[in-house]
Amino acid sequence: MADVLTARQRSFCMSQIRGKDTKPEYFIRSGLFALGFRYRLHRRDLPGCPDIVLPKHRAVIFVHGCLWHGHKCHLFKWPKTNSEFWRRKINRNREIDVLAVEQLRTAGWRVMTVWECAIKGRARLKPPKLFERMARWLLSERQRSEIAGRSTTKLVERC
Ligand SMILES: [Zn+2]
Repeated sequence: MADVLTARQRSFCMSQIRGKDTKPEYFIRSGLFALGFRYRLHRRDLPGCPDIVLPKHRAVIFVHGCLWHGHKCHLFKWPKTNSEFWRRKINRNREIDVLAVEQLRTAGWRVMTVWECAIKGRARLKPPKLFERMARWLLSERQRSEIAGRSTTKLVERC
């Protein structure tokens, strides 16, 4: 069991670092494209290297894996193996996330975070609802938005 868990974590980690073209992100991208939104990907010159950038709407979107970014939801559990390593990694990621949002907003970008649990798993939102919320935010002037799966709360306590 521990091995399975570790392997899953490892591959998730690799997908975050390497390709970034993860399934949830691709799903979000194609949905936005279908609605007529046009974007750029992974602007490395922007803080936190946002997954999707919509210059016309002065907006960036992060699609965050719940494990990797420490989201308090049913998809997240503190890993039991190599726990010290993961604790440091995940806490570090969360620090980077907070900082990136601050820096982006200072630079005049609007920032949306879409959590993995809004896209997959038992708490996911129905796609029409998810994309409606995204579209409404993109066309609004609201600065910050977060979309998570149903009945999840914000962030896990640091341990
Ligand atoms: Zn989540």
